[in-house]
Amino acid sequence: MTPVATSGLLLSIGEESDRISARDYQRLWSGDDFVVPSGYGNLVARHGEGLDIRLGEPVETIRWDGPGVEITTRSGTLKARACIVTVPVGVLKAGDIRFTPALPARTRDALNGIGMGALTKIALKVEGDRFGIKPGMSYLEAGSPKAMMNVDLFPDDKDIVIAYCGGDYARDLSRAGTAAARDHVTELLAKMVGESFRKAVTGVSFPAWWTDPFSHGSYSVCRPGFETARDRLAEPIGGRVWLAGEATAGGGAMTVGGATLAGRAAAAAVARLKA
Ligand SMILES: Cc1cc2nc3c(=O)[nH]c(=O)nc-3n(C[C@H](O)[C@H](O)[C@H](O)COP(=O)(O)OP(=O)(O)OC[C@H]3O[C@@H](n4cnc5c(N)ncnc54)[C@H](O)[C@@H]3O)c2cc1C
Repeated sequence: MTPVATSGLLLSIGEESDRISARDYQRLWSGDDFVVPSGYGNLVARHGEGLDIRLGEPVETIRWDGPGVEITTRSGTLKARACIVTVPVGVLKAGDIRFTPALPARTRDALNGIGMGALTKIALKVEGDRFGIKPGMSYLEAGSPKAMMNVDLFPDDKDIVIAYCGGDYARDLSRAGTAAARDHVTELLAKMVGESFRKAVTGVSFPAWWTDPFSHGSYSVCRPGFETARDRLAEPIGGRVWLAGEATAGGGAMTVGGATLAGRAAAAAVARLKA
């Protein structure tokens, strides 16, 4: 694969090109992306308004050998006819939720064929100067095809600079931690726009999904030879457990739209269950 394609995949799929199934990639679709001006979290909160949603209650176990399911969190056990599990594939692969009985071999095989990418964003608050840059510009640091960093500068004329990268470069930065990531991006930009950039950096936000135990990565990536894994993962388990979320969304994988459609399909299947 050419270096251009390799580095482009790092910024879109968030993964090294030799770990991406070309067949799965070929069927991916996605529409336009829009930024939520008030923040993405607000969109999720408004969407779920009025629903009985408990935050800060990680699911620890799911028992599915009875007539229904029993889901345990640290606050107790919930019984239901069926459940839809939308945790990231990274969480399932890490075994952070214990299934009893264990997930069937077919589901485990599917999980083996899907990994998590590491698309990663590092946002800096940059105040007092625009360094002669037109707000909304993007710069690309491409010193090496493996260490590609895209930087969006002052979007909507806000005091913010958002750097993003993927693959093993992003994994290393995630492991290095917030201060090191801030220093790294500051260093890159000081070289691009001038030494005075350093003083203008007044804050950092670094949601390092790769090291976040509730995601273990950015989104799912089918490994070469495993292009059927997403469909297998979406198959109901024992008529009681549905895995949903972006990884099961076929061509819609890796997107919010795909995750939403996959969740709705699972909800429709559960709603059809006989009491
Ligand atoms: C940097 C980046 C940029 C992106 N840009 C875009 C974009 O422009 N457009 C787009 O469409 N998509 C984008 N995506 C992808 C999009 O964010 C995902 O596809 C989408 O969030 C997947 O939704 P989901 O519900 O399947 O999983 P998630 O959004 O990952 O939700 C899973 C939830 O499960 C929770 N969880 C984990 N473990 C447990 C547990 N044990 N018990 C209970 N809950 C648990 C997690 O905390 C999380 O809230 C981007 C992703 C990244 C990382």
